[in-house]
Amino acid sequence: MIAKVLVPEELIQGIIEYVREGYPNEVLLLLRGKINKNIACIESVVIPPFVRGGRTRAYFNASALPAGMGLIGSVHSHPSGVALPSAEDLLYGYGPVIMIVGYPDRIRAFDKNGMELSVVLTEGCKP
Ligand SMILES: [Zn+2]
Repeated sequence: MIAKVLVPEELIQGIIEYVREGYPNEVLLLLRGKINKNIACIESVVIPPFVRGGRTRAYFNASALPAGMGLIGSVHSHPSGVALPSAEDLLYGYGPVIMIVGYPDRIRAFDKNGMELSVVLTEGCKP
């Protein structure tokens, strides 16, 4: 069970910028990183293949992803500003970490069961 998500501050800024650029559409990025015991650390984000944004949902083709990329979840925006996962987000969310950005910059993370994970800013993932 993951309890905590570490995210480098620079990366958070990049994600928030990407969300602003995509507004009013929903945007989605994949999270790359490592999970050590109950702590996930995000190292970078990846633009998923064949992504297309929509007003309510961003789609991508999960089967087109290369294996072994170290993907541990996804982050997507909620243009409504509400940073809570929808039932669909939990059902179809990619990976164990489901991060949501409530427009413009409210960042929260959840696991597949909808339990909130604490998001902690860090300088980088240390081994
Ligand atoms: Zn959502």
